[in-house]
Amino acid sequence: MLVLGIESSCDETGIALYDTELGLLSHAIYSQVAMHAEYGGVVPELASRDHIRRVLPLTQQILDESRKTLKDLDAIAYTKGPGLAGALLVGASIGCALAFTLKIPTLGVHHLEGHLLSPLISDTPPVFPFVALLVSGGHTQLMQVSGVGQYELLGETMDDAAGEAFDKTAKLLGLGYPGGPALSEIAHKGQPKRFKLPRPMLHSGDLNFSFSGLKTAVLTLVNKQTLDDQTKADIALAFQEAMVEVLITKSMGAMEKTGLTQLVVAGGVGANSQLREQLTRNTQKKGVTVFYPKLEFCTDNGAMIAYAGAMRLKHSPAGESCFTVKPRWDMEMLTTPESDKV
Ligand code: ATP
Ligand code: MG
Ligand code: FE
Repeated sequence: MLVLGIESSCDETGIALYDTELGLLSHAIYSQVAMHAEYGGVVPELASRDHIRRVLPLTQQILDESRKTLKDLDAIAYTKGPGLAGALLVGASIGCALAFTLKIPTLGVHHLEGHLLSPLISDTPPVFPFVALLVSGGHTQLMQVSGVGQYELLGETMDDAAGEAFDKTAKLLGLGYPGGPALSEIAHKGQPKRFKLPRPMLHSGDLNFSFSGLKTAVLTLVNKQTLDDQTKADIALAFQEAMVEVLITKSMGAMEKTGLTQLVVAGGVGANSQLREQLTRNTQKKGVTVFYPKLEFCTDNGAMIAYAGAMRLKHSPAGESCFTVKPRWDMEMLTTPESDKV
């Protein structure tokens, strides 16, 4: 079965072809970051208009790369939500229109399910059940994943998401948008122990997170300092250390609570090298194996949507016949495919 995946929930157009026998055939991403940078954040209307320009040429590009044509497709998966309504509607309407003319089913995929399953696009994937730490621009959640569609929320952020905290802190340091990768870059030059920032909810006894206080602590610190390059790097490092310690402690708490031995890290913050290094070190000691998506599949991409669509198709062959988008969508509401129920 050959599935086309279309991701258009925010500011990346991602298109991919996933073959259920052969795996990922091809994928392409167009990032709108440069276009939104001058506004300091994503402008929804500009995002929608740009997705319109990109979806079909990128689709043609990956079909050509894989020596396939539209007629070879068996299904089209598109991101149904959560995300920006106008941006989602572009992927949904193009995907559904193509599927209608090709007489093939569509699958409206949950964006976070895409992130969560992205580490499975690998030669050495984790096997169900596992715990997932989902750390993206809009979400921070710990999930117990027992199968496709079987997700139990173990804990989540009470306020800002991890990626959002990275971006807001980067902005305070004058690092532009989106600041997560830039902050992580300068943190390499930071002197350890010059500043110490709070670790919010570290000992709260549950698996929830809170990052807005950390951002406020950075603001207070920034206001007291002269922001030369070294000071910026030192604050970036202090922020990253606090963030990484909280994420690791809570993840290990989830491993203990569930008794599972595989941890999957998904979402853009999963690209952070300090998080990866320290998590790998900490988990090895405790007999836990940690899995990451390939770096290019940490942030938004079409491969994760094609893959999640293919998994859903395997379990429930009848696709949707009409489309809707869900700008807000709770992942626990996802239905479990019949054949996947325990
Ligand atoms: P969501 O998936 O919750 O709707 P999103 O799609 O915007 O949000 P992702 O694409 O998964 O989120 O990730 C983007 C986020 O990841 C941004 O906040 C970005 O700053 C952060 N990020 C990317 N690379 C790094 C890095 N190396 N270190 C820290 N943060 C990073
Ligand atoms: Mg993005
Ligand atoms: Fe995302």
